Amino acid sequence: MKRLEKIYEGKAKILYTTEDPNLLIQYFKDEATAFDGKKKGIIQDKGALNNKISSRIFRYLEDRSVKTHFVDMPSDREMLVKKLRIIPIEVVVRNVVAGSLSKRMGVEEGAPLKETIIELYYKSDPLGDPMINEYHVKAFGLAEADELRKMEVSALKVNRFLSEFFDERGIMLVDFKLEFGVHKGEILLGDEITPDGCRLWDKETREKMDKDRFRRDLGKVEEAYQEVLRKVLE
Ligand code: ADP
Ligand code: UDP
Repeated sequence: MKRLEKIYEGKAKILYTTEDPNLLIQYFKDEATAFDGKKKGIIQDKGALNNKISSRIFRYLEDRSVKTHFVDMPSDREMLVKKLRIIPIEVVVRNVVAGSLSKRMGVEEGAPLKETIIELYYKSDPLGDPMINEYHVKAFGLAEADELRKMEVSALKVNRFLSEFFDERGIMLVDFKLEFGVHKGEILLGDEITPDGCRLWDKETREKMDKDRFRRDLGKVEEAYQEVLRKVLE
């Protein structure tokens, strides 16, 4: 399937139409951004690494009956996906305290949580993705109550499967962000699942293996993504 027309260029990916009106190609770039796009950089080979990591994870989830937009990985930087009407909500799942939760609650990073947390953010670059709750979702019509319920059920299922998947590979799944969309009336998991949108720590040493290495200038960013790909393919 060939790339036809560019319909969207985001911070990390470009979307193209294909000969099939139901399918798009996501092209993964090396550009990295953080802090609402204020910090910019390139992570060498990130596009190919993230495409391979995400494709492997989507295949793994599909094998476990999680409905995703993934169709195929036609090349190193291209993912063929079902075209979605993206629901403008970022669903964050947290198993361990880190990042903005650590700041908001005044609790150190790495502290365990008694229960998994789901947070919702309104997907809006100009507003800096503000945190919202289910009342905002309903009041502003961002999604139907039933759609939100399906997204949350799917997010918890993804968390169970991926926590186990990474644990078997010596990695702790600390937190991650998911996006969902509608395709032919069905809610599907979309976008990507990569170290750009997940916090992944080495189980033994707690070394960070994700975009925090870029955000916090910790060095060895590309090496960390390569290590995640190596483990994900085990
Ligand atoms: P951003 O828009 O945040 O800069 P990206 O550079 O990752 O992010 O761009 C990819 C865009 O494509 C995102 O806005 C995402 O919501 C959207 N998207 C992901 N999967 C699909 C899909 N299957 N169909 C349509 N849009 C999608
Ligand atoms: N995340 C993301 N995109 C966003 C915000 C968060 O992928 O726009 C991911 C982030 O990588 C982390 C999780 O969601 O795995 C929780 O992020 P947090 O709220 O701690 O945000 P931070 O301010 O640290 O990016």
